[in-house]
Amino acid sequence: MSEEEKRNNKISRRQFLKRAAGASAVAAAGTLITESRASAQAPPDAPARWDKEADVVVIGAGCTGFPAAIVAQEAGSKVILVEAEPDIGGHAITSGGNVPLGGGTSAQRKSGIEDSPDLLFKDLTDWSIVQPNGFPDYRYNDREIIRAFADNSAPTYEWLVAHGVIFIDQPVDTRGGNGVGNSVPREMHTAVMNWPMVQTGKPADPTVQATTSSGNGLMRSLEVAAKKAGVEILLEHRMTSIYRQTPNSGRVLGIAVDNRGARLNIRAKKAVIIGTGGFTGNVNFRCMFDPRLTEEYCGLSGMPWSDQDASGEIAAMTIGASLWGLYNQTGEFGTHITKPGLIGCQYNYRNLQWVPGSRVFNLARASGLRVSDWQNVILVNMLGQRFYDETGDQFTANNAGDVKRYVHGNYLNVVNIKYDPRNFINAALAGIGDGHNGGGPIWAIFDADAVARQKWRPTPPNVDIDAGFFFTANTLSELATKIVMKYQRSRMPARNLEETVDKYNKFVVAGNDLDFGKPAPRYKIAKPPFYAAWATPVIHDARAGLRINAKCQVQDMNAQVIPGLYCGGESAGGFSQHGLARAACQGYIAGKNAAAERVI
Ligand SMILES: Cc1cc2nc3c(=O)[nH]c(=O)nc-3n(C[C@H](O)[C@H](O)[C@H](O)COP(=O)(O)OP(=O)(O)OC[C@H]3O[C@@H](n4cnc5c(N)ncnc54)[C@H](O)[C@@H]3O)c2cc1C
Repeated sequence: MSEEEKRNNKISRRQFLKRAAGASAVAAAGTLITESRASAQAPPDAPARWDKEADVVVIGAGCTGFPAAIVAQEAGSKVILVEAEPDIGGHAITSGGNVPLGGGTSAQRKSGIEDSPDLLFKDLTDWSIVQPNGFPDYRYNDREIIRAFADNSAPTYEWLVAHGVIFIDQPVDTRGGNGVGNSVPREMHTAVMNWPMVQTGKPADPTVQATTSSGNGLMRSLEVAAKKAGVEILLEHRMTSIYRQTPNSGRVLGIAVDNRGARLNIRAKKAVIIGTGGFTGNVNFRCMFDPRLTEEYCGLSGMPWSDQDASGEIAAMTIGASLWGLYNQTGEFGTHITKPGLIGCQYNYRNLQWVPGSRVFNLARASGLRVSDWQNVILVNMLGQRFYDETGDQFTANNAGDVKRYVHGNYLNVVNIKYDPRNFINAALAGIGDGHNGGGPIWAIFDADAVARQKWRPTPPNVDIDAGFFFTANTLSELATKIVMKYQRSRMPARNLEETVDKYNKFVVAGNDLDFGKPAPRYKIAKPPFYAAWATPVIHDARAGLRINAKCQVQDMNAQVIPGLYCGGESAGGFSQHGLARAACQGYIAGKNAAAERVI
């Protein structure tokens, strides 16, 4: 070890302890959301006393919960909707508002598109290849669940419109990220409208409110409709367990909630509907699907507006529920893990940028720097080593029409497409051979020239220095030494970073990346100051969850219905589709069936 390295090591050890303590303090203060609030529990005994009661109790005021609650209330049931957060909306309100409901909607007819439930069912159960990299998106879908979606898809769309949801007045298309494998256009887009957006705290520019796609208008319209229908909405009421007659048998009786530290028992005379939105924020739970997804994958999309803490799944499993359709979570397709689009901040999903003014900006802490050209940075692991072509992308997704000569369910799709995996995410999650499962932090390294080219302002609130998601130094060696934060479990050797950059700069001169084949690496990293910005992959959505049937009733390990328990959306399994359509449709189905239950 050189004298300089020894000196750096001494400095960095002190810094390490200070920074690690700082990061823990931030975590303890509750501003660095990294650990889940939900954990495995013993089955609860039914309470002797109920604090509140309704016919149907819906958990989660998101894309599943609102349709479920409104449908049940309008069918004559008294409904209580509990929401863990101080405001409604869940991930849906942060979403892009692209809604692929088809099967013959009035919007499709207006656009001259012929569709039917049978065609929709056929498309979403294609065994063959629908992705241009050779992956079968829909081979692992549960046929019963897709049949129910196909039959209820168009009615759900008409129901949303009838309940005040404004879709942008334009032809139905395939643009919003759910087009793959659909043989006809099915995508519609909900208008942002004039409610303040959660990302900014302000309404969108009035000139684009009717033409900008966003989940904002979708969820606020449903909130208005729910209140009008008489649904009782309880904010800051977090479900902590579900009661059943005996821990593993009989009907579901109600739920326990936590309201700012006070515990309440809410009786459900007919049914409980789980619309809690998945598990991506629960490290132990998500590692059941993929052990690589350890703590450092804390840049969860949709957070910190609402958590995906697996509380619905855990509470249901505690009383006997089964999981379902697990391959959909691990298959190398779709958007369940994404490459970040923002760097230097914790919440770095490409399509969601938090800015000051948002109610949750104190939790998000920084907006991040948007990378428009990955030629401007190199990406290194904890040890300061490159691992892949930085311009490489995440698993294939959202590729309507990308497969040429695609014929539904035809073996020629398999023959014509060569299996060609995209391995950027796999390389980023590969780790450093230290025996840990997770790959550790990924850092974007760049210099002052890159800042100028990208027109970045690398200062707060754009970057998160205090919690250790962004570092600056005048030399590369100093930069490596400074990288100390909660998830950097191994120090970055200064010499590694210097050697990596030196080698990369030579590749730039030669116009050839001999290590990872980055197409014509363009810019040297040479002009101080130098920067290290958090660029770790993002977990985006849950595509596996509780076992449900066509009525959205939750089932146990013996395929028996758990009486009085329903689920939809990201907490339900068996359906590989990114989001809003399946959640809204399953909420619609669950609400109808729950309201039809007899009172106990
Ligand atoms: C940034 C972003 C963009 C997206 N864009 C699109 C898009 O354009 N098109 C698309 O189809 N999909 C999109 N999605 C996905 C889509 O938003 C989700 O799949 C959908 O919202 C899931 O609905 P849900 O009801 O399952 O969960 P959510 O909408 O997240 O609702 C779950 C609700 O349950 C609450 N909750 C959780 N646990 C508890 C508890 N224990 N007690 C009480 N309440 C609880 C949560 O706080 C939340 O409000 C996007 C997602 C994100 C994050």
